[in-house]
Amino acid sequence: MTEPRPSGTDYDVVIVGGGIAGASLGAEIAGKARVLLIEAESQCGYHATGRSAAFWLESYGGADVARLTAASRDFLTEPPPEFGSSGFLSSRGAIHVSKSKWPEVPSTVEARRVDRAELESLVPGIRPDWRYALKEPGCANIDVAALHAAFLRVFRQRGGEVRTDARLSSAQRSTGRWTIDLEDGTSIDSAMLINAAGAWADSLAERCGVQRLGIEPKRRTMVQLRVGRSGLRDMPQVLDDAGTFYFIGETDRSIWLSPHDEIETDPCDAAPEEIDVAIAIDRFQGVVDWPVEAVERSWAGLRTFAPDRLPVYGFDVREPGFFWCAGQGGFGIQTAPAAAKMAAAVLLGEAPEPGIDPASFSPRRLG
Ligand SMILES: Cc1cc2nc3c(=O)[nH]c(=O)nc-3n(C[C@H](O)[C@H](O)[C@H](O)COP(=O)(O)OP(=O)(O)OC[C@H]3O[C@@H](n4cnc5c(N)ncnc54)[C@H](O)[C@@H]3O)c2cc1C
Repeated sequence: MTEPRPSGTDYDVVIVGGGIAGASLGAEIAGKARVLLIEAESQCGYHATGRSAAFWLESYGGADVARLTAASRDFLTEPPPEFGSSGFLSSRGAIHVSKSKWPEVPSTVEARRVDRAELESLVPGIRPDWRYALKEPGCANIDVAALHAAFLRVFRQRGGEVRTDARLSSAQRSTGRWTIDLEDGTSIDSAMLINAAGAWADSLAERCGVQRLGIEPKRRTMVQLRVGRSGLRDMPQVLDDAGTFYFIGETDRSIWLSPHDEIETDPCDAAPEEIDVAIAIDRFQGVVDWPVEAVERSWAGLRTFAPDRLPVYGFDVREPGFFWCAGQGGFGIQTAPAAAKMAAAVLLGEAPEPGIDPASFSPRRLG
């Protein structure tokens, strides 16, 4: 008979990272395995997940990502009862604009061209050189805090455990199990380790003796501006097809604006730089004639990409006890429900949902 291991140190699966990626995958697998989620910060969701622009935009990220986004819509609109009694989306719509050509979206995405007169009614004060516009009516706001909290709640209800202030410092694998050492000096034993460490995904792999995949964080800046125009709260998201800005109504007289920046950085607690705030405002003033009254706040977060900009879900090629759940770029919230289901199926050896091929997202493609 084997000796029972001390409780609280021995798991089937340890998930590293308590953002939306770790929480959503945790909710899918808890109950089927003994799972612990460890989060370095004192609060889950402190990094990218807590800093998003909170929209669901089907066209975002290209055709493969669009499949994950579309497959997440039913869950987000009408979640299973365990996740809550109401949906996480509220309708907004988006307008893609261009000065030189009709904007395009993947062919699976519902969208229609709008003429200048309609554009002016949708975005009053838009400058005359924005001549081409495409409306994507499906764009919605996501209640990110509620969604993240629901994943964590269901994870716990299904028997998952969460430990915050628990930063992995290193992990070694021998005889088919991991010994995971935390910065506080304690150790955990687990058969499987899931890398949901967001911007730290590659450096976490290295700490576990696993080869990096070239997954890199890029800083994105957000600015909340008060402007001399009212009635903005529910206006559609406005974005240009060259990818140089987007803005969304936040309150009656304020917007969230991004210069769509992707600034290379080491993983860190990201903060906005004045120059990027200035660039955002400059670009915004080239789009609409609304007077800028004040910068109410600004923040930044890290969006993390694999070299081909697709997320990475699956077992490491060389270390089968290491599972990647990383590289969710700018679409990690809107894809979370379907991505977590797909990743759980791969992890547990179950059949994936029809319509999404996990091979597209496997680490195998990265060599
Ligand atoms: C400005 C901005 C706007 C965005 N807008 C949208 C949007 O509108 N829609 C959308 O779908 N997506 C959006 N995104 C992208 C989305 O936020 C991310 O894809 C998503 O949050 C990534 O989730 P994650 O769990 O992988 O990362 P994170 O939320 O960063 O979580 C990773 C966690 O791992 C923890 N960790 C790291 N190393 C360790 C360790 N050694 N030990 C323990 N824990 C560790 C970190 O502390 C962190 O909490 C946006 C992102 C940004 C920055």
